[in-house]
Amino acid sequence: MERSFAKEIEALRLGAGDTFHGEGILAVTKALLQSGVSYVGGYQGAPVSHLIDVLVQSQDILDDLGIHLETCTNEASAAALLGASINYPARGCVTWKSIVGTNVASDALSNLASPGVIGGALIVIGEDYGEGASVIQERSHAYAMKSSMWLLDPRPDLPTIVRSVEKGFALSEASNTPVMLELRIRACHVTGEFPASDNIPATVSRNRRVEQPARFNYDRLAHPPATFAQEKLKLEQRLPAARKFIVENHLNEVMPGDLADVGIIVQGGLYNALNRALMNLGLSDAFGNSRVPMLVLNVTWPLVPEQLTAFCAGKRAVLMVEEGNPDYIEQALHATLRRADINTRVHGKGMLPAAGEYTIEVLTRGLLEFIAAEQPQIDIAAPRTAFSTMQHSRRAAQALIGPDLPLRPPTFCTGCPERPVFTAIKLVERQTGKLHIAADIGCHALATFAPFSTGNSILGYGMSLASMAGVGPLSEKRPLAVMGDGGFWHNGVLSGVASSMFNRGDGVLMVMQNGYTSATGVQYLPSSSGNRVDHQPGGSDIETTVKALGVRWVKRIRSYSLPEMVKALRTAITTAEQGLKVIIADGECQLARQRRLRVTEAKALKSGDRVVRTRFGIDDAVCTGDHSCIRLSGCPSLTIKPNPDPLRTDPVASVNSGCVGCGHCGEVAHAAVLCPSFYKTEIVHNPGWWDRFSDRLHRAVIARLGGRAATQPQPAAGE
Ligand code: SF4
Ligand code: SF4
Repeated sequence: MERSFAKEIEALRLGAGDTFHGEGILAVTKALLQSGVSYVGGYQGAPVSHLIDVLVQSQDILDDLGIHLETCTNEASAAALLGASINYPARGCVTWKSIVGTNVASDALSNLASPGVIGGALIVIGEDYGEGASVIQERSHAYAMKSSMWLLDPRPDLPTIVRSVEKGFALSEASNTPVMLELRIRACHVTGEFPASDNIPATVSRNRRVEQPARFNYDRLAHPPATFAQEKLKLEQRLPAARKFIVENHLNEVMPGDLADVGIIVQGGLYNALNRALMNLGLSDAFGNSRVPMLVLNVTWPLVPEQLTAFCAGKRAVLMVEEGNPDYIEQALHATLRRADINTRVHGKGMLPAAGEYTIEVLTRGLLEFIAAEQPQIDIAAPRTAFSTMQHSRRAAQALIGPDLPLRPPTFCTGCPERPVFTAIKLVERQTGKLHIAADIGCHALATFAPFSTGNSILGYGMSLASMAGVGPLSEKRPLAVMGDGGFWHNGVLSGVASSMFNRGDGVLMVMQNGYTSATGVQYLPSSSGNRVDHQPGGSDIETTVKALGVRWVKRIRSYSLPEMVKALRTAITTAEQGLKVIIADGECQLARQRRLRVTEAKALKSGDRVVRTRFGIDDAVCTGDHSCIRLSGCPSLTIKPNPDPLRTDPVASVNSGCVGCGHCGEVAHAAVLCPSFYKTEIVHNPGWWDRFSDRLHRAVIARLGGRAATQPQPAAGE
């Protein structure tokens, strides 16, 4: 991993008397160190990747405190890591992106929650819900309810987030239950400050090891008959202990307001947006002085019935602000009030939408309705007009833009090694006809957008090969599964390859071996050329692994070698040979490569060493302006410009200054038998005598042949 977190790491060293400034997710990381955590692990994914990324580069801090860091190969292994807290008084924290990560981890989570823990166990989940989310829209709340784990949803405010981490461990220990800490995207990236405390070495750690393993205790196993007793323990002991802790430590907050006959109950994570919406109605200020009383649930599971009834008693109506569906909290609120015979009206879904993110706009609309219904004496004409004007302006802007403005979908990075593979797939499909393509999670999912528009299904991370197991036997043509090396190690090796071999499957698996889990911020993998511990290769190899599982047809091909890739893929699809065929498309993630090269090239230039940069260009005089190259490549550096020839009106293709010289253009031009307008340029910095001599020679020859002898080298456009 090439990105440096030096500034963030300094923040982790702060102690009592210092003030921490930064983002929510880094505040969580610091809070872990202040909580005496013994071990940390996780699987990367937005919006919580930074937690592990920063710790990976903080080995000296971890060494001082004796903290073990495990960079897990998937969320299931991260959840299982918490098994240490079942038997030992060791605090542990793991993290991943939810809902998808929690799905993967759910087996281990059930088996963790059943026996419970004696050391605090905290699961920091990045709740990837709403605008900007990249996964299925579901709630993690269901997991907390079904497995009896507690769910913290703190107000997006750094002191509250830090307190939630510290109290989360204590809550876990007081109730012998794992605790989930849910952070939405905006909470992870909210910035602020909090008074730092000293980092605390753990009582059990790599520096203070346990001398003897825990004594055998069948009751600590998630195994019958112990599980029957554990289910009762969850309800009869752990739940009451948790509720007592929540009340005594004021984890939920009651905020007063003068409109005492109404109230709002809100998930902590939505508090900032809610307060901003109240400000739109003139019912709060930037400091949170709301006129409507609020019960802020920083713990959304378990609910404390007495807190709900105490807040609602004497109120005419409350608004339940609960994002997503099902409306678990609202249903529980109805049942709680009914049982207590309290007749407060409950508004929620209906005034607010049943699904989708509760943005400030959505909340403002709901609040306008709530106030109009329950506080008609308040004049909200002005905010209602302002809201309508804003919506009208938006519709007007949309009408002006018109429906015909082309969308600009996300695409692969410039020079990405995965782009040529999809070009190869397009070229092969010209001969074979359309293929069933099982897509997967990762950068390669960008090929579902134009200009490739490939992929028939996405069933989960590393699941593409498994997802076409039922397609192959029903299809005339052999299907193709695409998977990244991240997906391969996360799940694909067993769910896909081993299962296909076991079932005598017949299909093609394309593994994009770019060396990292790039889509989540470029983290190392078991097959990476580096390892976070000793920076040596990870020790595992995809080709060796699939061969060891019995795959006989395996080809490793450089991603940019388009003709070879086309040939191999065509053969894999059409050969009479039965069985799984694996093609490993080998090419380092360009983002990681450029980060690495930038540093080494800067050093070389500074010390006067020769540096060669390759760029591609297009000869205006040769380009026909049909733009086939753009349709087959999709590289963001390939663009168009006005035709310099006054007799031709079609714009010509052009390469802009973002080109990293991957060579894909030239390969496409040859493999697709396109025009010969592409040329390659080498820009030589600090040239030696040979460079100067050959440059003079080239110019002389060109001049002699009647060409235009340039006085300067001709770099690619924009150089
Ligand atoms: S991050 Fe790497 S693998 Fe992903 S699109 Fe960019 S270059 Fe390609
Ligand atoms: S060589 Fe072509 S495909 Fe590669 S980065 Fe440059 S313009 Fe893009």
